[in-house]
Amino acid sequence: MLPFKLIYSDGYFLPIGQHVFPAEKYRRIHDRLLKTGMAENKDFLAPQPAQDDDILLVHTPEYVRKLKTGTLSPQEEMQLEVPYSPELVRAFWLAAGGSMLAADHALTDGVAVNIGGGFHHAFPDHGEGFCMIHDVAVAIRRMQRDGKIKTAMTVDCDVHQGNGTAAIFGGAKSASSTLPSAGPSPRSTAGGAATSDSAHSGDVFTISLHQENNYPPYKPPSSIDVNLPDSIGDDDYLAWLDNALSSGLRQFQPDLICYIAGADPYREDQLGGLSLTMDGLKRRDELVFRAARAKNIPVMVSYAGGYARRVEDTVTIHCNTVIAAKDLLASS
Ligand SMILES: [Zn+2]
Repeated sequence: MLPFKLIYSDGYFLPIGQHVFPAEKYRRIHDRLLKTGMAENKDFLAPQPAQDDDILLVHTPEYVRKLKTGTLSPQEEMQLEVPYSPELVRAFWLAAGGSMLAADHALTDGVAVNIGGGFHHAFPDHGEGFCMIHDVAVAIRRMQRDGKIKTAMTVDCDVHQGNGTAAIFGGAKSASSTLPSAGPSPRSTAGGAATSDSAHSGDVFTISLHQENNYPPYKPPSSIDVNLPDSIGDDDYLAWLDNALSSGLRQFQPDLICYIAGADPYREDQLGGLSLTMDGLKRRDELVFRAARAKNIPVMVSYAGGYARRVEDTVTIHCNTVIAAKDLLASS
């Protein structure tokens, strides 16, 4: 039995038809974890859908009303990039409930993994990039409302910048400045990663490591943004991540880390342009868990994107995150 909980429901399936987003990945991750003996049935907890009151802690009443009544404009539905349906709304409310449950269990067990969620492109008043509702933000605001945490840090390692996260938690920022880098030095002006570090004023500190030349075209500032050059590989990526985590945890002491473990920095990803290997992605997971462990900060994981040519690769990368958490907890 795992020393932490996995949050999962068959209802995570997104009814979006033929789509680059592999909606069946959640079930396949669940099945793989069971079939390989990495997890047992009793390691899994089934979430309840979030209540509308929870969703409204992050999203505007107007947007929630449109979702509940099926009255998004054609432009809004196009921006979402997944076809609207009441069933899809239910799946997103369930994912938000899953992240709420994971956050709660992370505080008890040190780690909890939502085998879903990570919809980091959802804004308070609209959805985009396959993301209708920002489940992680909803979980953070609900935990704060209940007095279970005061502060949180998001660590977003999806290949795409966490624009929704930045918009939700951003607020007033000072002008960006360049961090003195303890990481790899830029290889060239065009090829180096640029880190920008905005003054932080809120109760949620946001870190995003992402490919600069990729969606979203406009990237609202996170507390720390690491704009990575195309095709960066394992070692450089891990050095930048280490740098960002050290810097973030020097500046801010969160009660909870929300790790958005996107599978799309993988070199075989169809929507990503970085060159991480599967092993590099597992080392990435280990690095996040180790940094949190060193400061005794609980970690809630959600999964986000993954569009590998072979869906099985995406499933492996997500399963490896569970193994990384298990190995780390076992060794500490
Ligand atoms: Zn992504």
